[in-house]
Parts: sequence; structure tokens; C-alpha cells
Amino acid sequence: MQNDCIFCKIIAGEIPSATIYEDEDFKVIMDISPAAKGHAIILPKRHFADLYELDEITSLKALAVARKVATAIKAEFRCDGLNLLQNNGEAAGQTVFHFHIHLIPRYRKDQVKMSWIQGEYKEGEMASIAQAISKRII
Ligand code: 5GP
Ligand code: ZN
Repeated sequence: MQNDCIFCKIIAGEIPSATIYEDEDFKVIMDISPAAKGHAIILPKRHFADLYELDEITSLKALAVARKVATAIKAEFRCDGLNLLQNNGEAAGQTVFHFHIHLIPRYRKDQVKMSWIQGEYKEGEMASIAQAISKRII
């Protein structure tokens, strides 16, 4: 537990939350400022600041929890779609530095923005970038 971390406090029960699911490793709660009704966040019980700090086993388990909860959200809201969103770093929109995954129910004509202007690569650039990243995989 990290003292100044709001999600650690929620996990410890020091701050109340609406809990959807809980197991040995995770707590899934409703997001307090939802993009849509039913917007949930998956929190590992151990404090990891972001994806880079997360251990491999917890990362695997997190997607299994996401699948389970997403299925329940879909059944409840009959939403047309659902986004998983996971922000790392301020530049990416992370505001709480305790790893979490958002589950956001989506509807065909909703106002939720999760898009970007499609860029492009120069000739050969995509392949060389792929190779550069690939070399760094450990
Ligand atoms: P981030 O921007 O870091 O990806 O997402 C943090 C999320 O945590 C935000 O969507 C925000 O609404 C949510 N959040 C922040 N504080 C609280 C809180 O005290 N309780 C709950 N349930 N959600 C919170
Ligand atoms: Zn924490």
C-alpha cells in the first residue's frame, strides 16, 4: 500500500467505493466520474504505478477479470460496444498513479471520444520502426 494513493485507500476500505467484483488480487469498482453509466475500473490490490511496473502474472489475470466484468456489463446494459482503456503517464491521461483498466460501455451514437486523426508513414518507415521496437523486447 502506498500512503498517498487514493486507490490503495479504496482497496483498504478507508475510502468507500461501489464494488462490482473482488478476488484475491483485484477489486473492480464503479468510476466516480463515469464516461457512461456502468463505467468501471479494475484495480490490482497491490500498488503498481502503471503498466511498466506490473508483473506478468498480474497482467494476465487483469485481462481475465476484464473479460468477466465486461461480459456482465454487456449483459446488464445491452451496450453496443465496450472499450478497455488503460492510461500510462500524464501525457496519456493518467491521473491516478495506481495501475487500472477502465471498462467503458459504448453506444452507437454516444458522445464518448476515443479517436485520433489517422497518421501515415513514409516509405519503409513502418518496417524500420517495427524492427527498432522489436529489438528492445526483452
Ligand atoms: P485515469 O485518468 O488515471 O486513467 O483514471 C482515473 C479514474 O479514477 C478517473 O476516471 C476518475 O474518475 C477515477 N477516480 C478518481 N478518484 C476516484 C475515487 O475516489 N473513487 C472512484 N470510484 N473513482 C475515482
Ligand atoms: Zn495504490
